[in-house]
Amino acid sequence: MRSFLPRYELRAPHDLGEALELMAAQPGEWKPFAGGTDLMVLLEQGKLTHRKFLSVLRIPELHGIEITDSHAVIGALTTYSQVQRESVLRAEFPLLCQAASETGSIANQNRGTLGGNIANASPAADSPPALLVYDAELELLSKRGTRRIPYARFHTGYKQMDLASDEIISRIRLPRRKTEWRQYYRKVGTRRAQAISKVCFAGVADVADGTIRDVRIALGSVAPTVLRCVKTEALLLKSSGSSRTKEAQQQLAAEISPVDDFRSNAKYRTRGAQNLLEEFLLQL
Ligand SMILES: Cc1cc2nc3c(=O)[nH]c(=O)nc-3n(C[C@H](O)[C@H](O)[C@H](O)COP(=O)(O)OP(=O)(O)OC[C@H]3O[C@@H](n4cnc5c(N)ncnc54)[C@H](O)[C@@H]3O)c2cc1C
Repeated sequence: MRSFLPRYELRAPHDLGEALELMAAQPGEWKPFAGGTDLMVLLEQGKLTHRKFLSVLRIPELHGIEITDSHAVIGALTTYSQVQRESVLRAEFPLLCQAASETGSIANQNRGTLGGNIANASPAADSPPALLVYDAELELLSKRGTRRIPYARFHTGYKQMDLASDEIISRIRLPRRKTEWRQYYRKVGTRRAQAISKVCFAGVADVADGTIRDVRIALGSVAPTVLRCVKTEALLLKSSGSSRTKEAQQQLAAEISPVDDFRSNAKYRTRGAQNLLEEFLLQL
């Protein structure tokens, strides 16, 4: 059942101040509309319950990628195609570029935005695990001002997030690392393109002389939110020897809480996550 379009209202301000003013005047009434690749699916299905939308696409402050000495600062409206074209992101944040290249189709990559992927808050989204292992920070904007929050604290439960009804995501800040970290990303879906993840794994590690000095691991599709697996990371830092992989796999299984749904089941997802962890460790 398709939606009845005259029921919806869309405003498209060019000016950031105007957009924030509207959101402040009627908190929760106006929902941002970016690329529309998630929202249009709901519209087509007749499941778009919200009525008033604020197209943010014309707001210049939400576009662009800025590279400073310390950070890559990505505007929330940056598309997956733009992510893949940026040379510093390709060189230093390859997992994000890989996630972007494996998201949907080329059409989705040209239209879908990183901010939309984050705010849609799907536990199966493909960029968030990469953002988590890169210690991303979000910049949130409202008429009240700007605040920054570590991305690891943003998702608070299934489809829940620390985003007030008058706030929008304006930028994603990725700290540039000085040392070379080894990096691994793998998405497991039903097929290689146009598939939502059954399991998605991102891992980075600082390794010297066979020792893991620091490590970050994050997964998608295995919990109510995308998940940084800090207990598995801690175990990898303190254990060594031949049993390490097995112990880490057991810890990972205890840390995730996958469900059975129409895409996969908990058993497959757990085994898949453990296999990807093993592949990551073998590559280290
Ligand atoms: C065919 C198809 C395939 C897909 N494949 C994948 C895939 O493989 N992997 C994957 O992860 N996703 C996939 N998606 C989902 C979707 O493309 C992404 O989540 C995309 O990044 C959403 O961005 P958008 O700009 O289109 O968001 P929109 O649809 O415009 O918005 C999504 C949500 O985010 C909110 N929002 C948008 N921008 C902001 C902002 N700046 N601040 C606050 N809230 C905001 C909106 O209010 C809405 O709730 C697919 C979608 C389709 C239709």
